[in-house]
Amino acid sequence: MVKRKNRCSFCGRSEEEVALMLSGMSGYICDECVRQAELIIHENMGGKALLKTGGNAALDMDELPKPRDIKAFLDQYVIGQDSAKRYLSVAVYNHYKRLAQPDDDGVEIEKSNIVMVGPTGTGKTLLARTIAKQLKVPFTIVDATIFTEAGYVGEDVESILTRLLQVADYDVAATERGIVFIDEIDKIARKQDNPSITRDVSGEGVQQGLLKLLEGSIVNVPPKGGRKHPDQDYIHVDTRNILFICGGAFDGIERKIAQRLNTHVVGYDSVQNQQRIDTKNLMKYIVPQDLKSFGLIPEIIGRLPVLTYLEPLDREALRRILTEPKNSLVKQQIKLFEMDGITLSFEDDALDFIVDKAIEYKLGARGLRSIMESIMIEAQFCAPSEQEKTLTITRKYAEEQIRKNERMKDFS
Ligand code: ADP
Repeated sequence: MVKRKNRCSFCGRSEEEVALMLSGMSGYICDECVRQAELIIHENMGGKALLKTGGNAALDMDELPKPRDIKAFLDQYVIGQDSAKRYLSVAVYNHYKRLAQPDDDGVEIEKSNIVMVGPTGTGKTLLARTIAKQLKVPFTIVDATIFTEAGYVGEDVESILTRLLQVADYDVAATERGIVFIDEIDKIARKQDNPSITRDVSGEGVQQGLLKLLEGSIVNVPPKGGRKHPDQDYIHVDTRNILFICGGAFDGIERKIAQRLNTHVVGYDSVQNQQRIDTKNLMKYIVPQDLKSFGLIPEIIGRLPVLTYLEPLDREALRRILTEPKNSLVKQQIKLFEMDGITLSFEDDALDFIVDKAIEYKLGARGLRSIMESIMIEAQFCAPSEQEKTLTITRKYAEEQIRKNERMKDFS
């Protein structure tokens, strides 16, 4: 009797013709066809099919944090900025809802990309980073200025998705549900409308490139140093479900807001209106039209329907930032010394002094850290090898350390 050869049920090749033959319940598959199948799966992951199955399976509405939970989490790390926190919490929650919704009921929840406007160092990136800790979808932060540096707009803008893919470990379905934070979006504003931008950036071209991503399209993304994708140069990513959160300082936008408010006031009950305007914090009156005056193209603005602002940090906020957040600078210092068995404390006066210096140097919250470091460097250097097990930072000590450092700066 002639023994029948095991043949691959897909390509028909026999065992002798292939390196490996796997057997199934009622057939065989060769190593070559397994490889082919894997490629086909990768290609198809760019499509919708996976979103409906594996892509959504991870999102169980009951397990997702509600907007209040998200905000409470943000509160542990970010001081103030209530309005921005609320907008972000709702946006992220809605993003989950969109991903979890059954798509057979005809009501499609539209994506609400966000733009956060606020002075530098007020917590935009911190908000984004903090939210990332809690997210159940891939998340990445990119800086819009990188798109202006290399001339080739298209490729650069797509690099946003390369990063998201990397974070998602090249799981295309997961990437397509991700969230991207684009920092410094104001830097790609059109130049002629914006006197504060001095660099020669091809604002409008970059905005057009970004628009493609924001409005949802299938984008060819170069995998760039990721896993090998033989026979496949690009990965197709559908951006329709990716949530984009943009942030920018929009330096000088207050002037645009003031101009607009002024023109609105004239002709109406001007005196009454002017009294109601809080001229110290014009940012809270921001509307999409101001972004247009600043130099963002209307199409981009249309794709960023949720507009929120961050408040400048006053003395009180800076003081709270020093001690209150879960990983505040003071808590971090205490922890560092604790590991050497040293109990560190700060007198209130010393903390007030740090805040005074941050305000004096006009560095805002960003400055708190460098001032703290200058004050603590000496103690961090000496204390671990000394016997003393308690250390109290007084205002006098802090002043001395800063003076020393300032003198060093003068000598260098
Ligand atoms: P932005 O992105 O708005 O320019 P960042 O979020 O990068 O500013 O803030 C710089 C640093 O200042 C943060 O890493 C954080 O330590 C501190 N900081 C700024 N704003 C806040 C805030 N509202 N609450 C707590 N810390 C803050």
